[in-house]
Amino acid sequence: MSTVTDREGVARLTRVARPTTSSGLMPPLRPARKREPPAATLPPQTGVARLTPKAAAVEQAAKAFRQVMGRFATGVTVVTTVERDTVHGMTANGFLSVSLRPPLVLVSLGRCKMNEMLPRSGRYGISVLSHEQQHFAAHFAAQKPSPVEPTFAWQGDLPLLEGSLAHLVCRVVDVHRAGDHVLWIGEVEYLDHRDDEPLLFYTGRFGTLREISGRTA
Ligand SMILES: Cc1cc2nc3c(=O)[nH]c(=O)nc-3n(C[C@H](O)[C@H](O)[C@H](O)COP(=O)(O)OP(=O)(O)OC[C@H]3O[C@@H](n4cnc5c(N)ncnc54)[C@H](O)[C@@H]3O)c2cc1C
Repeated sequence: MSTVTDREGVARLTRVARPTTSSGLMPPLRPARKREPPAATLPPQTGVARLTPKAAAVEQAAKAFRQVMGRFATGVTVVTTVERDTVHGMTANGFLSVSLRPPLVLVSLGRCKMNEMLPRSGRYGISVLSHEQQHFAAHFAAQKPSPVEPTFAWQGDLPLLEGSLAHLVCRVVDVHRAGDHVLWIGEVEYLDHRDDEPLLFYTGRFGTLREISGRTA
């Protein structure tokens, strides 16, 4: 396997990086040169809907990408917003801290209702889930209704999921389109936390710190 020095890595990143606008959406990127994989490496095609060789290669790459990214253990959040008195929440682990001064975070959203609401509401809440809130993670991912009705604590005019480990209230200050997701950068206006064990997501499953250590797939 060839190794990449830090200097080479930075040079490669610099070549592919393109500037983004500070206030609007990212300008469209020129599509990468497409290379067809040799037909022999494609999976056997079965079933009614046959994928074209190109689509099959894209699916194979997406599966490999998911498997690798699944090894990046994350916490789990519920993103909330409100529009005309309607509270909406969704589960997201595509959440990270971006800047300390000023305090900025981002949440990365694919096709979802939240993506339609945020341009209008302009603000979102983040609730970091504890190990006792797995049912809410499944509920707000539309996977399985929670047996317990979620309740919200209001911080000003923004709802936050009660009982969570940590809360942030963010004002959207920047938006970037990135592939099939949209990155919502928010300036933190409020935060609080308490100490407890977090809910984690690893290899496509929920777990606690003890449960996921030693898990292989
Ligand atoms: C661990 C995990 C991490 C994920 N990370 C991401 C991510 O980073 N980015 C991403 O785009 N997707 C992510 N998803 C997928 C995402 O959670 C789902 O696609 C979700 O359904 C998108 O929500 P939506 O905004 O389209 O709303 P919907 O699918 O309509 O709503 C989500 C669910 O929340 C319920 N709900 C909403 N508001 C309320 C309320 N006020 N009271 C009670 N229930 C309510 C709805 O009934 C529904 O069941 C993740 C899923 C999981 C399991």
